[in-house]
Amino acid sequence: MQEGASPTHPGLMLTPPLPTRMERPLLIAVSAPSGTGKTTLCNRLVAERPEIEYSISCTTRVPRGEEQDGVDYYFLSDREFKKRVRRGEFLEHANVHGNRYGTLSDTIQFAMEEGRHIILDIDVQGVSQIRNALAQMEERSLIRRGFLDIFIEPSSLEILEQRLRMRGTDSEKVIQKRIKNATGEMQEAPKYAHRIVNEQIDQAYISLCQIIDASV
Ligand code: 5GP
Repeated sequence: MQEGASPTHPGLMLTPPLPTRMERPLLIAVSAPSGTGKTTLCNRLVAERPEIEYSISCTTRVPRGEEQDGVDYYFLSDREFKKRVRRGEFLEHANVHGNRYGTLSDTIQFAMEEGRHIILDIDVQGVSQIRNALAQMEERSLIRRGFLDIFIEPSSLEILEQRLRMRGTDSEKVIQKRIKNATGEMQEAPKYAHRIVNEQIDQAYISLCQIIDASV
């Protein structure tokens, strides 16, 4: 039988079910030192779970490889980024590894109002800013009710260094900078409600799904 066909009337194609509208949509903020597998985990989650949307951030860094504007990031000039900061358009924004990154409030609000979970792949400064902002928000606000912070960590800094080298995308100078940053980022880990040690990517993915499912 053709995929999507009705079991009783095989010639009739069933409309695929729409993603369920969540009663308590989640704002899932995931942070990790560079090279920990965070992007792989987030991409897999969005690909396999239609009820979870990816929050496209703004950045002033230049696109890498196949990256596309409006898909991976909104690539902005410094001037445009500053203008949006002045207008108060960001839920959070930070300077990471020498470039500016920010999450647009509208992106989050729109997804959550539509009843969808949204996942943010952002650094520790961004999550800290959101945590601080929560206190000023009404108790019943969607963001405050749905906030879920998760930190992904490597089993050790030595393993992280090995992974960064194996990726083969960074110069020695960049690797050393990322390791140094990782030490600072790991100090923020205890502030997160959940921590996942990524020793094995499939296991880390299962843990991520379990945390999300238990939080709905
Ligand atoms: P990359 O340039 O490798 O894509 O990202 C570098 C770092 O910036 C990653 O740690 C990523 O999580 C972080 N990042 C990406 N988007 C945002 C954002 O909107 N806000 C903050 N604070 N960090 C972000």
